Amino acid sequence: MGPVFLAGAFNIECCEVRLYNEVDSGPLVNEEALEWPDMLVLTGLTNTFDRMLHLTAYARTKNPSIIVVAGGPTIRALPVLAQRYFDYCCLGDIEELCEVVSDAWGQAFVAEDMLPRYDLAYWMRRMGYAETTRYCNFRCSFCSLTGEGRSYQTYPLEYMRKQVLALGKRKHVLFIDNNFYGSDRAHFLARMDLIAELREAGYLENWGALVTSDFFHKDDTLTLARRLGCELVFCGVESFDTEWLMGAHKTQNTNVPQVKLISKSLEAGIVLVYGLMLDLAHRTIADLRREIEFITGTPEITLPSFVTLPVPLLGTPLFAEFAAKDAFLPGIKLRDMDGSTLVLKTVDPLNEAVAFLREMLSLRGYRGRVIKHSCQFLKMYRSRLTKMQLMFSLTNAALLCAYSLATSPTQLAAPSAKGRRRTHVSTTEVLDGVYTPAFRVDSRYEHFFKPTMVTDEAGKLTKEMIDSGLLKNVTLQQQSQVALA
Ligand code: SF4
Repeated sequence: MGPVFLAGAFNIECCEVRLYNEVDSGPLVNEEALEWPDMLVLTGLTNTFDRMLHLTAYARTKNPSIIVVAGGPTIRALPVLAQRYFDYCCLGDIEELCEVVSDAWGQAFVAEDMLPRYDLAYWMRRMGYAETTRYCNFRCSFCSLTGEGRSYQTYPLEYMRKQVLALGKRKHVLFIDNNFYGSDRAHFLARMDLIAELREAGYLENWGALVTSDFFHKDDTLTLARRLGCELVFCGVESFDTEWLMGAHKTQNTNVPQVKLISKSLEAGIVLVYGLMLDLAHRTIADLRREIEFITGTPEITLPSFVTLPVPLLGTPLFAEFAAKDAFLPGIKLRDMDGSTLVLKTVDPLNEAVAFLREMLSLRGYRGRVIKHSCQFLKMYRSRLTKMQLMFSLTNAALLCAYSLATSPTQLAAPSAKGRRRTHVSTTEVLDGVYTPAFRVDSRYEHFFKPTMVTDEAGKLTKEMIDSGLLKNVTLQQQSQVALA
């Protein structure tokens, strides 16, 4: 939804704005669309940095005077590198785009009230999206928010109201806050009051949100949310292993056993969805298999919606930990920090880790257990969940078993991605089709299609990574060890 919120920075009276979402629509290769704008604004997650370079090369080839603006976590993590390529590198929040527009064209081109442009979100269907808070009050070691260290913020209630009203009378709304519950209970309760009022007026028949585990601690929080139409929450469960959670500084997940937390939510009539982290860099395959067997053998809980490797995102404490331990594999590409490609040394031999990862990404070998789990789950919660919720919970399990359908829509849509034999190890992984220009680009931009490397052939961090200050979370002693290595 980043582009939708960013689009709100432009004055609608004098700017025409078009959005393109590669996650939904696949790589942008339409030459007309690339030569049309005076300003190109790019955002994306860590592994999209190279994609921003490709689009910059295309757009500058078509229109040498175009202004290219880039932002998002990858730009904030690599400011020194980013400055080589883009005219404006935004290191702050979405509102910084207003300053950029003002600087480039003048204040007249800036919107008076920055509101999301849902009218341009062609990929948004029955579900609408809104945001009521920003950042998180926890500090998990793998999270980019921890790396950036900003404090939890609540938005004015009026802004929440404007978003919901702008979504129209959509039945389903998902609050995409990093942490919808947060540390300010009074504000949470005020938002619940607003939801009650908006529902009275015909908005928000039902809704979902992204929460942290403390959302489930007080029974009355769950009851209140359910009464006001909450049907689904996403919570970062990550693992059922307490030792791992402590190691990841996800201590908030250890206060109540995770199984109890998920079943409590389901019993209250709210489906809890989550992802599972397969940390092959800290845990053995045998240990992880035990965990998968435990999950698929516990019908009281939902199955994970996706399985991912932990990604040592740039600038996080996890990244610093692995850098200090010299734990990165050689020849790591930033593009491969996607959760399905190994970038770290593994506890078990690498070939065994790859075989296990391939199996786990679609739960091959566990499908019988998944079916049995689904039947028992249905029996257990049939009377507590709506048809829609049951369907969602069961489809979730089916999609997990069909990994290629459930993930990486962009890769599937990339013309040359078809037939690419993946190794799932960044060192040997073949680049996907987007690294071959879709049409002729100016030779000045040829190097924009080279992958950004995180480590060199020896597995050491590249100069680009070190120059961007990525070791700020490493102690001085650890830094000198990295430098010596
Ligand atoms: S609880 Fe979630 S959003 Fe908050 S720091 Fe942990 S991973 Fe990030």
